[in-house]
Formats: sequence, structure tokens, C-alpha cells
Amino acid sequence: MNIHEYQAKELLRSYGVPVPNGNVAYSDSQAQAVAEQIGGDKWVVKAQIHAGGRGKAGGVKVADSVEDVRRITDEMIGTTLVTHQTGPQGRVVRRVLVEEASDIRKEFYFGFVIDRASQRITIVASSEGGVEIEEVARQSPDKIVKETIDPAIGLLDFQCRKVAAAIGLREKSCMSQAVRIMKRIYRCFRDNDALQAEINPLGLVGKDHHLMCLDAKFNFDTNALYRRPDINELRDLDEEDPKEVEASGHGLNYIALDGNIGCIVNGAGLAMATMDAISLHGGRPANFLDVGGGASPEKVTNACRIVMEDPNVKALLVNIFAGINRCDWIATGLIQAYQTLNIELPMVVRLAGTNVEEGRKILTESGLPFVQADHLDDAAAKAVTTVNRENA
Ligand code: ADP
Ligand code: MG
Repeated sequence: MNIHEYQAKELLRSYGVPVPNGNVAYSDSQAQAVAEQIGGDKWVVKAQIHAGGRGKAGGVKVADSVEDVRRITDEMIGTTLVTHQTGPQGRVVRRVLVEEASDIRKEFYFGFVIDRASQRITIVASSEGGVEIEEVARQSPDKIVKETIDPAIGLLDFQCRKVAAAIGLREKSCMSQAVRIMKRIYRCFRDNDALQAEINPLGLVGKDHHLMCLDAKFNFDTNALYRRPDINELRDLDEEDPKEVEASGHGLNYIALDGNIGCIVNGAGLAMATMDAISLHGGRPANFLDVGGGASPEKVTNACRIVMEDPNVKALLVNIFAGINRCDWIATGLIQAYQTLNIELPMVVRLAGTNVEEGRKILTESGLPFVQADHLDDAAAKAVTTVNRENA
């Protein structure tokens, strides 16, 4: 789960990490009030969306007066910002961060990630900050420094010094600041079950050369949110796909894709296999909805409704391999969906596993136009044929 930059900065501030003075604003007058409260004569207004690349896309602007802060905020709020990370549809800006403008001397990249190969929290840092780290990795991989942290020992001072020296923070006062900042971000990362923390740029600012986190991005482990209520509060549902939010409210997992076959399956593995089978037959899935184990008829009905809310869906493919699930409940749920949702789309159903005979019988005896399939390949082929017929 991602949070906004201003929330990440507040979190860092609470761990004693230096971030610019600033605050969130939802309107132009509020932005002006924030600027007045901060004081000074130069501010930065930054669009708060869950995506980077805002600078290049016009989502980060410098203001020389409080009137300017007001005007820029008015222009930003309500617009759709398209950056290389948002996809072509962009994201609507609903809030901005107003903060003091720093006098930047140099920008660095600094982050923690969980490295899958070593299964450890790892520092990734570079002397090339304020640019896309992926680009640095491609063009000059030698400019990226990594340091793995042993979970039993934690982050040690010498490791921080090594990283600081490698990215060019050799000066004594810079190095001791860097060590302090790295250790505090590490504690923040670990205490809150983060998966990624990215400070890009970490700025060397002012005449006295102090370090400051000028941008901050955090990603948290969704499965650990139950024990991190403070982080869970920061979730911004506006930034998530509304169907995915609704699905999670019903205990379902929904993933939006861009084809035209709506898929209801149980389990992530079967979802992948179903997607492969559809692709093999020349079709494309519109989405996936994983009903999980022990799906009640109500859950199945909700699943159908959510999947059909996508206007691109031209046919439904239900593929259930029941273990804990029961095919008779799935069948009952599908019939309920037909009756309550006025389904006009063709529906291909493949049931296997627990109570499969009852399930199939219920579907057959319902008299409703289910297309039943014997196995995965048969189901995918039938779904693709149906969609092609609809499109013809
Ligand atoms: P994004 O990564 O989405 O483009 P950033 O927050 O990194 O957005 O801002 C882009 C650039 O704007 C930074 O690399 C930095 O040069 C500048 N910038 C950001 N915040 C400040 C600030 N508080 N003071 C001065 N410059 C800033
Ligand atoms: Mg940035």
C-alpha cells in the first residue's frame, strides 16, 4: 500500500529525519494559509498523487509569493496529471503539499527495499539523484551502490559510512548526518513493515550543506496492515481502483486488466493458469476476481456484479477448482446472480472438485443459458469463441 508524499514526510519527521517544513492543502486558500504559516519567500507546491515523475509533468512548481502559491494550487487541484508512472489516463490531483523551497546544492538517491534474492532489507543509493533510478541502473549501473542488512544485527554505522562515501558524501559533517539519517529511516522502515522507502532526491542544501529529504515514497506490506493501524489510516481510497476497493470490502481480490473476458476464479495460481489458457486461445482477460476459499452464494453474486461493472466485459468465465469451496454453493451463487443482476452476458462455467456433480446438476436444471465446460482448456476455448461471436 502506498501513501502520499506529505504523509511519508510526516512519518519521517516523527523519526527525527530532516524534511522541509510544509503541510498538505486541499484548496487554494488553505495552501495560502500553509505558505503564510511556514513563512519565508519561496515555496514549492507539489501535486499529491501516488505516482512519481511529477516534476517533469508539471506537478512540482516553485512559487515566489503567497499569491503565487494560491494560483498554482488553484491550477493544480482538479486537474489530471499524466506522468510516466500514471499510465495514459493520469491521476486526478485532489491535494497538494506546500513546503519551503530548499536551496539545493546536490541531489542524491537513497532508498531501502526488500531484496528478494537475499530476502533482506537492502540499501540502494546513488550519487545521481532527482532522476529515475531505473534509468541510472540502465545507463550507468556502476553509479548504484547496494548494501545488505543482516536482520539479526540491524544496520551498522560502518555500513552507512560505506554507502555515504560511495555516493560522494565524504566530508565529515555530511557523513555523520548521513549515518544518522540512514539509521532513522531504517528504523522507520522496519517498525512499520515497509516494503520500499525511496528518498529521491536526498538533497544537500544550503550554505552549511545539510541533508534533507526532498521527496519521499513509502510502500507498505498490505498483509501487515492489521497490526499497523496508524499506517492503515493513511490509505487513500481515491488512489485505488474503486472495484478493487469494493472487492476487498467483500473479502474478494480483484485485479483490473484490459481485455474483454471477465474471470471469476479461486486462487491466484488458477487465475494465472486461466489467463494463460485464454491467451493461448487468442483471447484477453478483462479482469480477475479471486473468490478465495469457502465462497458463499452471496460472495459469488457480489463477484459477478463487480466483474460486470467493467464495461469492456463481453463474457464471463467462471473457473472454480473447489477444495474448501463447494461447487453447489458456487452454482447457487451464479443462479442468484443471474436472477438479481439481469445478466445478459454469456457465461462459461467450469466446475471441478468438491460437490461437482451437484453443482453441475444445479446449473443444468436451472434452465439458464450457462455454457458448461469440462476442463480449463475447454472453458477458455468456449469463452474466446463466445466473445468473438459477440464481436462479429
Ligand atoms: P517527482 O519525483 O515526482 O518528480 P520530486 O518531489 O522529486 O517529484 O520533485 C522533483 C524535483 O523538484 C526534485 O528533484 C527537486 O529538484 C525539486 N524539489 C522538490 N521538492 C523541493 C523543495 N522542497 N525545494 C526545492 N526543490 C524541490
Ligand atoms: Mg522524486
